[in-house]
Amino acid sequence: MRLHLQVGAATDIGQVRDHNEDGYLVDHDVGLIAVADGMGGHRGGEVASATALEALRVAFVAGAPIDEAVDVANDAVHEQSIADPNLRGMGTTLTAGSFDDEGHLVLGHVGDSRAYLARDGELERVTTDHSLVEELIQAGELTPDEAERDPRRSMITRALGLEPSVVVDIIELDLRDGDRLLLCSDGLTTMVGEDDIASLLAEEPDAATAADRLVDAANAAGGVDNITVVVIDVVGDAASPESESESESESESESESESDERAAERPDGVAHEPADDAEPRTRRWFGLRR
Ligand code: MN
Repeated sequence: MRLHLQVGAATDIGQVRDHNEDGYLVDHDVGLIAVADGMGGHRGGEVASATALEALRVAFVAGAPIDEAVDVANDAVHEQSIADPNLRGMGTTLTAGSFDDEGHLVLGHVGDSRAYLARDGELERVTTDHSLVEELIQAGELTPDEAERDPRRSMITRALGLEPSVVVDIIELDLRDGDRLLLCSDGLTTMVGEDDIASLLAEEPDAATAADRLVDAANAAGGVDNITVVVIDVVGDAASPESESESESESESESESESDERAAERPDGVAHEPADDAEPRTRRWFGLRR
């Protein structure tokens, strides 16, 4: 059976930050979906996420497999950070999935954004955070519950763009009709527990509404960070020419990052710098994310 995707996406500044450094990409034409969460002083964070997503898309459209496309995105962010002193030290997470019409998913993953698979009523995390608290969990020094409340939970151990090369986790999954995939930034998962994410995904059938409701839940819980959510429903097609053209026409205008109306709420960036601008601009390993 051929499969196609129904995708709902939302990005939101949250309740505390004064600009949105997250971004997402949904390109139905090539089957590429990604979330990025930027970091860096001045405009660095949002430049890093936007640069990574665009470089990823261009490389993937040109035929690069996902691991190479993530490498290209790393180069693009890194080179720009070297070229512009205002952007020095910027970086971004990137969790990117490529889908074919037989349901084969290849994820490339760097940082602490996440991918989850909801299947048969269970929600399973399919990425591993590249974060300090995740390393402490692996070492037996923190329990997952303690990690959720740990003040160091936003410190990441791997990000795109900080170095000339980056180690990319590659995860492959065979998706089935009825599967639902979630890609999200940590602004969702630090605010909303996995049980609540699972229930909301289970009770809301529409992907776009589910994405909006997850963002609303993170904001209701405090919204201390930017929040980005992409919900991807895997739907079986009857193998007829009509359903094929339907699934393609539905995809037309979505191949652009941050096209959601919530993204329009971003400030234009001229007015003022954020209060935490005094923080060092270069945050590398274990850098505290804004
Ligand atoms: Mn974040």
